[in-house]
Amino acid sequence: MADKLTVVLSQSQSKHPARRGLEENIATYLLMEKDIEVSVIPNLYDIDEKHTAMLFLRSIGGDMVVLSWLYPRAAHWMLDRSEVKGHMGEVLLLDEEDEDEVDDAEETNNGIGAADIPDRHIYTVDMRVSDRHEDYVEEIRRIAKECKGRNQAKKVASQLGFVSIDSVLPTNGALKVGQEELMAPTRRRWYPVIDFGRCTNCMECIDFCLFGVYGVDSMDRILVENPDNCKKGCPACSRVCPEQAIIFPEYKSPEIAGANVGGIGGLKIDLTKLFGGGDAISIAASERDTELIRDGREAVGLAVGIPRRQEGLEAEPRDELDALMDSLEDVEI
Ligand code: SF4
Ligand code: SF4
Repeated sequence: MADKLTVVLSQSQSKHPARRGLEENIATYLLMEKDIEVSVIPNLYDIDEKHTAMLFLRSIGGDMVVLSWLYPRAAHWMLDRSEVKGHMGEVLLLDEEDEDEVDDAEETNNGIGAADIPDRHIYTVDMRVSDRHEDYVEEIRRIAKECKGRNQAKKVASQLGFVSIDSVLPTNGALKVGQEELMAPTRRRWYPVIDFGRCTNCMECIDFCLFGVYGVDSMDRILVENPDNCKKGCPACSRVCPEQAIIFPEYKSPEIAGANVGGIGGLKIDLTKLFGGGDAISIAASERDTELIRDGREAVGLAVGIPRRQEGLEAEPRDELDALMDSLEDVEI
């Protein structure tokens, strides 16, 4: 069993020289680290189930670091959706805003969670946090040390009979493939990613989407069943989700692209309402109508798929939260 940490670097969709330069520098410096095995793959969001890079990711048995140009939450749940599962490793290389928001976000994670998580950690690192390759190399060295310590403890526990040897996973990638195969071309994709740390399985998204994107699995849990049915550039259902659990990783607004958004002042805020300009459900319905019309179908407005929330919005008396929302909308955020 090789005792190396696998690092996977997911390239940006953009070929911007600054991004390519940072990717190359990180990969080059990591190649010189004796405890690290590094591979480069195309943009994680774009690789489909049959791509060699996906088969490679699935074959990695132990802890792993995934560097990408995506918010860590988006990358984590994207991997989980593709059966690359693990506990969310704690990354210390964050920008200052993220550091503040992580605590709030943890408090608001009341979702159904992921199923069948193996005993290993996946660390998702956002390459937009710093433009210095040294910062990433240093953080990955720290993670490698942390993983090594945890694996050694597991081995001792298995020798003493406290845990099964099966729980001590191999620490490197099992599938040996050339860099060229890993970088086979991809096409740009667009589909929702569900954060199961937040998703409560309320099914509002499946009711709302009229394009057959969502389905349910064998345990009646919500599932993105036909991702490529989703309409490019449209984030409509993310505005409808009451938990802000639906991520469109390439969308321009951070809160829809997977930035950590939690409570403000200890209260859980309907951020879709706030960032959608006060009427996110109407905006979502209008975005959905645009796509229906493009498909040669009839617009449905607010008549289909959103009755529960719409009724709630009309019937509920204004409360303290509404007052807070009004005051937040009055200030620049
Ligand atoms: S609307 Fe949001 S919380 Fe409800 S099932 Fe869909 S993703 Fe989950
Ligand atoms: S963005 Fe539109 S098409 Fe895509 S999943 Fe959401 S509602 Fe369906």
